[in-house]
Amino acid sequence: MTPPVLLRMMDGMEKAPMHPSDLITKHFRLVDAQKKALIKLGLLTLRDLLYHLPTRHIDAGKSSAIELAEDGERVTLYGQIEKTGTKKSFRGHVPMGEAVLRDKTGKMKLIWFNQAYMAKMVQPGDFVRASGTVKKRGATISLINPEIEKIPELPRDTGPSLFNEGGIDPEDRFLPVYPESRGITSRWFYHSIRRVTASGILTLLVDPIPSDVLLRYSLPSLATALVWLHAPREERHSLSARKRFAFEEIFFIQLERQQARMLYEQNPTFLITPDKKRVEEFVARLGFPLTDAQERAVNTIFADFASSRAMLRLLEGDVGSGKTAVAAATTFAAVTTRPSGQTYGALQVAYMCPTEILATQHFESFIQYFVGTGMTIGLITGSGCRKFPSKVNSGGWTDVSRTQFLKWVANGEIPIVIGTHALIQKSVKWKHLAYVIIDEQHRFGTKQRAKLVQKETGDATRAPHFLSMTATPIPRTLALTLYGDLDLSILDQMPSGRKPVITEIVPPGKRETVYEMIRAEIRSGRQAYIICPRIDEPDPDKEQALIAKSVKEEAKRLQEKVFPEFQIDILHSKMKPSEKDDVMELFAAGDTDILVATSVVEVGVNVPNATLIIIEGAERFGLAQLHQLRGRVIRSNHQAYCFLFSETKTDKTFERLKALTTAKNGFELSEMDLALRGSGELGGGRQWGISDIGMEAIKNLKMVEAAREEAKRILGEDISLTKYPTLMAQLEERTRSHFE
Ligand code: ADP
Ligand code: MG
Repeated sequence: MTPPVLLRMMDGMEKAPMHPSDLITKHFRLVDAQKKALIKLGLLTLRDLLYHLPTRHIDAGKSSAIELAEDGERVTLYGQIEKTGTKKSFRGHVPMGEAVLRDKTGKMKLIWFNQAYMAKMVQPGDFVRASGTVKKRGATISLINPEIEKIPELPRDTGPSLFNEGGIDPEDRFLPVYPESRGITSRWFYHSIRRVTASGILTLLVDPIPSDVLLRYSLPSLATALVWLHAPREERHSLSARKRFAFEEIFFIQLERQQARMLYEQNPTFLITPDKKRVEEFVARLGFPLTDAQERAVNTIFADFASSRAMLRLLEGDVGSGKTAVAAATTFAAVTTRPSGQTYGALQVAYMCPTEILATQHFESFIQYFVGTGMTIGLITGSGCRKFPSKVNSGGWTDVSRTQFLKWVANGEIPIVIGTHALIQKSVKWKHLAYVIIDEQHRFGTKQRAKLVQKETGDATRAPHFLSMTATPIPRTLALTLYGDLDLSILDQMPSGRKPVITEIVPPGKRETVYEMIRAEIRSGRQAYIICPRIDEPDPDKEQALIAKSVKEEAKRLQEKVFPEFQIDILHSKMKPSEKDDVMELFAAGDTDILVATSVVEVGVNVPNATLIIIEGAERFGLAQLHQLRGRVIRSNHQAYCFLFSETKTDKTFERLKALTTAKNGFELSEMDLALRGSGELGGGRQWGISDIGMEAIKNLKMVEAAREEAKRILGEDISLTKYPTLMAQLEERTRSHFE
């Protein structure tokens, strides 16, 4: 029994008026695990709690009953767990997990083969929702490998009576499911948020989105949207509310980026006037004609150079699409432009790379491109400084001291400076820094960029033009959001002469044909990768059609039954680094014909003679990952092939894999991937600082564009947002939390 004193205290807590900025701990008694969990989820105040949105809702109106389950039917059931346990089956080979689920109408077994841990995720007494395929053997009913999820409580009247007249109370029909964290349950959120919303707090919340914007896109107000998400009565209400929060998130990101852009653009910039004829001569000496895409990018940059505002542009192009040439041609234009009012000297260019190796590589390419133009090129990294041309070593470069180097940069004698982060340190002063190029560094922040604005004589400042280059293919909507402060140019074309990889989805019956092809290719001197989703032995339970091939087992099978005449080796992440090196060395030397591997070969593996890649269980990989894997075999002039084997035959899987055969490049593929995934499957947003709900907006180009336009319009009227105090306060708060 609860002691009376405690009861009174709890009573007191219930009644204390709630304010959005109150700490959660002021109103809720929490155990340590819960406190930690809330902190981990970033939830401190009641406002944060209200913004902890359900990922989805369980529709109690659609549940079924154990009694009614038919053999082979796919069902979703609600019930309470009675027992759990793990054991080994099939003569002790396969670990399995078991549980008993009971609802009003009966009980059944839940069985997980090879996923014994699933049984440990629930405990007797838990309420769950389980979805899977029913198996009936005599009186025993089981659900095989069900997906299972804990729920705060059972939908009222679970069981057949659900469908009787009257049905369920509409207020309880949609049960919100909250993102959980270790130590805190969806159930806790459900009850706590109910208490908060019931306290009258919603009237105290100020909607940060201006009402005319809400009206224009038919979005619900903040208070309405919160009710519609935490306690919807109709599905369309929760959908509409999600849309609003998705918009809100993208809108704030846009405000932040657009504001940074406008502030940057308030600085005067450098006028760069390319001499068309000299640029053409320069390009002609590169040794190849520019692709149409490169040409377009160069011309767009020239147009930006001619404007009175500093360029802020992102150049996206798959690996190998030739971004360096675009950088070189535009650099040439900048360094052949005289500083205004001068009849001598040159504007300066800074080219920043993420690593020393890359910086050194670019320094060397630039020497090749610029030799004979009379331009001086410098390299500055953590390990030292170099200058080209050298007085002592004609045609080459020399090492110079840092002090001397910095002096030459400061007086403008070195117009082209390539380097690592060392390039933007305070000690580096410039004479006329007019153009900054950032290679493969998409997270270069607006604050770092602001540092590049140079002091001119007196108090005047001048902002350099800015080009950021990246090979990470991301969908256009995501680019517009993350790089909302940058204009976008895309190199969607590879230099001519590169043969695209022939990619095919292989139906199960054609496996032998593909093996014959491998045989022929290897006989003619090539090598092959065979990628498997797993490392260890597969499940001997043959009923489990979904069990993926494993590296070890598959290598054994291939060696014994398919390719006894070839040298086969394996590679996976659990091997020691020295073992991996040995395997790679043998493969690179051509001693191994076939390398059976997990996706470890995705990065950094470069064996030009390998022209075939087979991917087993292809449906288990993301499209971007498949694209990377396929990239392993475009490293020579031999025709390369990629064969995708898939164990599931659903239309959705096929459609997804088909994107690999139709997409022109990584960007188009990332677009297709986004379009094909359902909401909730998007994930991956965290790495960009975008929540799951924000990622839903990323699927919607119209919404992203609307958020962008509204942000631009509002900032255009009032860049410091003094007329929108709520907006300003929340923007500040969000920006702070993003960067801490
Ligand atoms: P990335 O976009 O990955 O930075 P690079 O600029 O390094 O690509 O270019 C990759 C290779 O392609 C380089 O060897 C470069 O010389 C070559 N290249 C670039 N543009 C062309 C072109 N238009 N025609 C032929 N080869 C090109
Ligand atoms: Mg590059």
